[in-house]
Amino acid sequence: MSTDLTTYENLLAAITVDDGSPVHDPATGEFVGNTTISTPEDVDAAVARAKTAQQSWGALTHAERSGYLHKAADAVNASAEALAELLAREVGKPLNGPNARFEAGACEAWLRANADFEIEDEVLVDDESGKAVLSYVPIGVVGAIGPWNWPMMISIWQLAPSLRMGNTVIMKPSENTPLSVQALVQVLNQVLPDDVLQVVPGAGEIGQAVSEHPDIDKIMFTGSTKTGQAIMRSAASDMKRVTLELGGNDAGIVLDDINVEQMAEEIFWGAFINTGQTCAALKRLYVPASIYDEVVTALANVAKTAPMGQGMSEDNVLGPLQNEAQQSIVADLVEDARKAGATIAAGGDPVADQPGYFYPATIVSDIAQDNPLVQIEQFGPALPIIKYDTIDQAIEWANELEVGLGSSVWSADEAKAREVANRLIAGTTWINKHGAVDPRIPFGGVKKSGMGLEFGVEGLKQVALPKVTAR
Ligand code: NAD
Repeated sequence: MSTDLTTYENLLAAITVDDGSPVHDPATGEFVGNTTISTPEDVDAAVARAKTAQQSWGALTHAERSGYLHKAADAVNASAEALAELLAREVGKPLNGPNARFEAGACEAWLRANADFEIEDEVLVDDESGKAVLSYVPIGVVGAIGPWNWPMMISIWQLAPSLRMGNTVIMKPSENTPLSVQALVQVLNQVLPDDVLQVVPGAGEIGQAVSEHPDIDKIMFTGSTKTGQAIMRSAASDMKRVTLELGGNDAGIVLDDINVEQMAEEIFWGAFINTGQTCAALKRLYVPASIYDEVVTALANVAKTAPMGQGMSEDNVLGPLQNEAQQSIVADLVEDARKAGATIAAGGDPVADQPGYFYPATIVSDIAQDNPLVQIEQFGPALPIIKYDTIDQAIEWANELEVGLGSSVWSADEAKAREVANRLIAGTTWINKHGAVDPRIPFGGVKKSGMGLEFGVEGLKQVALPKVTAR
């Protein structure tokens, strides 16, 4: 009989080994479990199996593969609490708030949405000159390489459309969060045919073995711009397809008509979701001089009262940083901003007497556009608030950086907000919210934030080959 994977203990036992690389809880330092580490030979073997399995998986109908995705969603639903607990222990994210339970729930939602999308052949021409049809056929084996901040959700973003379109998938999780992805794959593999979905844990060299493998036909990569550039370079030799979801440094522009009191929570969570470790989180806020002090005070008040602590406590909504390197990056940038004359309106001091990689929710005001805390993706719980005099100046500053993942405009007047939104260079510009993703709405970055789109029918097309038949 197969193991019941609905409890944390069983799930952990199914994916950990006696002799492997140890994983620790970033909040407490407690041992979570040992992960296996793949070798390049393991990658070769997995790819060979995936290539064989793709023959029959790719031959199924859309309805049959959709059926599998719904069964996979049921399996995630049954194990949701166990998956959330593992996220709380391995990533450190609290069970509550837009964190661990939210992430497990999103996995189910994305699987169901990808099962239900309709993708049909498109008749392009059908007249006396002939008939031309555009259809979407499987690419083959997809290599999916991911980051550590939303390990399960981002894996689902990669694997659900890939499987739906008849590809088989090899996942390469981040070395910081290998167990979360292995657990997810273990749960999904209760219902998927053998070798359709596999996982090869390991560090960058295993990612490289995946991205350079001649029998992998498409790379879906989510991570830093630097790694994305390396992957794109190596993909060139085989003309591999790539979808790249890379770093961001999202700007938000507040207009002078907002109700500050009402909006403060929404703005805060746009910035501090997952303790700021989110690619499309609000990372720099531009506020008009007329309401600047009011906005800074309101956000500082939310920051000071949001409960922070270890993931497994039901009270917390902010957790630790996932790793020490990330904690240092944020702490150093805030410290440098302070030395450059910025005001720390909330947070700003490392959390003392706690074993984990904690850093408080930090609001920085009186900061200049050219400060590194504004210019560099700090990927943590800090929000610099920059004062502007004219909207043209704010738009120029928002558009100035090399990245363009998300952005937002905050206003009581939707028409005015849309006017400003149309002038912002980013894959998505939200109005009166930030970072909210929806499986039906395409998402992707421009400039150095990436290439290609995920989600929706557009997302399905990106993991398929367009094929024209014409007579
Ligand atoms: P990273 O680039 O360091 O690592 C990402 C993955 O790439 C890991 O699995 C890593 O092992 C692997 N890797 C490293 N070197 C490789 C190589 N040479 N070839 C192939 N794979 C290699 O990124 P990270 O620190 O894990 O994640 C944080 C970054 O990810 C941030 O910049 C963030 O903005 C970005 N991100 C983007 C999105 C998005 O949707 N645009 C989502 C989440 C995170």
